[in-house]
Amino acid sequence: MAGIHLHHHDLFHEGPEAIRPYLARMEDLTHVFVQVNDIFERNPSPVGTLERNPVEDVIHGAGRLYADVDVARFSPELRQLVAEDPADDPLAIVSTSTLAADYEIVPWLNITNGAWLGDVAGNGVVDYRGRDVDRWLCPNGPLVAPMWGRTISALVARYGFRTFLIDRIRYPDWGGERVQPANLFSCFCARCCALMSDQGIDVGALRQEMTRIAELLRTGEFEAARERFGSEPLIRRWLLFRQQSVTRLVAEIIRIVGESQPDAELWLDLWPPSYSWILGQDYPALTELSPRLKHFPYHRLGGGADVQSLIDYFGRDDAERERAFAAFVRLFGLDYGQTYAQFRADGFPIRLVEDQNRMVRERSRPGTYIYSGVQMWNLPPEELHRAAVAAYASDADDVIYYCYGWAGTELFGVSNGARPPLISPTLPRAADGR
Ligand SMILES: [Zn+2]
Repeated sequence: MAGIHLHHHDLFHEGPEAIRPYLARMEDLTHVFVQVNDIFERNPSPVGTLERNPVEDVIHGAGRLYADVDVARFSPELRQLVAEDPADDPLAIVSTSTLAADYEIVPWLNITNGAWLGDVAGNGVVDYRGRDVDRWLCPNGPLVAPMWGRTISALVARYGFRTFLIDRIRYPDWGGERVQPANLFSCFCARCCALMSDQGIDVGALRQEMTRIAELLRTGEFEAARERFGSEPLIRRWLLFRQQSVTRLVAEIIRIVGESQPDAELWLDLWPPSYSWILGQDYPALTELSPRLKHFPYHRLGGGADVQSLIDYFGRDDAERERAFAAFVRLFGLDYGQTYAQFRADGFPIRLVEDQNRMVRERSRPGTYIYSGVQMWNLPPEELHRAAVAAYASDADDVIYYCYGWAGTELFGVSNGARPPLISPTLPRAADGR
């Protein structure tokens, strides 16, 4: 049954009992995903206000961990900055509330992006020019999997929740507080360079290739850049290396958690398949490791990617932006015959939901439980209903709404009835015909 994301600040500022009546309006809601550590994001994103929050209109995430676990003790060399006020503890708040009695609570963690302390230099992402990518940990960072394995084990021991959703299990995208496309061309940390060399990847030649592609983008030769990116064998090997690295990170976190908490389960929050491959997420391999995943085919929001900021970064006038958009949709297989002007007005067509869910089903291990993320903010009620209907009609098993705090109050309950009725099995008739 359906789920909804809840941010830590929703619990801090509104409190579970104020939140409860809104969740109750959503008739098929069974799971509440509670954020335990935040990212550097405007809430809500990118515009609007937190309508029901009595304390703040807008909240900027600080990359901190909000939990009563002693990370400095079990991972002293690398750890996440912890919130200062011990009362800021979303899992304690939710577990002592009636929400925990009525809903399945799934803590939600961001893995590679946050405010880190300790040996960040030895575990962070480095781009192709040798620059550190701020606030991102490398999947191959030697301390990353141990830190998260121990943190999740400690969270299970402290709060008793056994299922976690792990998000940001990937390399950086181009978005964030400012657009940085170079973040995609990573990682060139010492460990990644050594591992790539071991696999026979010529790291120097790879850097040169990326420099060439960056130059084509800079001079407005977008189609040539796409062609080169899509066909160069060296690029293909690097993409595969990144996918193997992320898969290995997830496998290692699961292994470490399993040592002390054998019945804990980690579910995956992934990018839709059109984009996942470029960020290091390999559906067939990752779904061998976990029984459930969520992805977010938000059609109005470019499939969850910040498409507009990237196109506007490279395109200096309307004609250039149209050419950049054409190359972008070709690269990601998202060509719905739209112009950039149409995309800016409407996003992708709602068919994106069906297309991405079909791809997830095709690529995932048979039997994987698939949640289709449904955008629940910054859209009119009829559009939310349409998106939920499309998600239920697709190859996904269920939906997760994103998210409670950002959603306009008029949106709660709008998607009731979107789920198709369950067909009851035909019962054998009794001998006397009843
Ligand atoms: Zn690296």
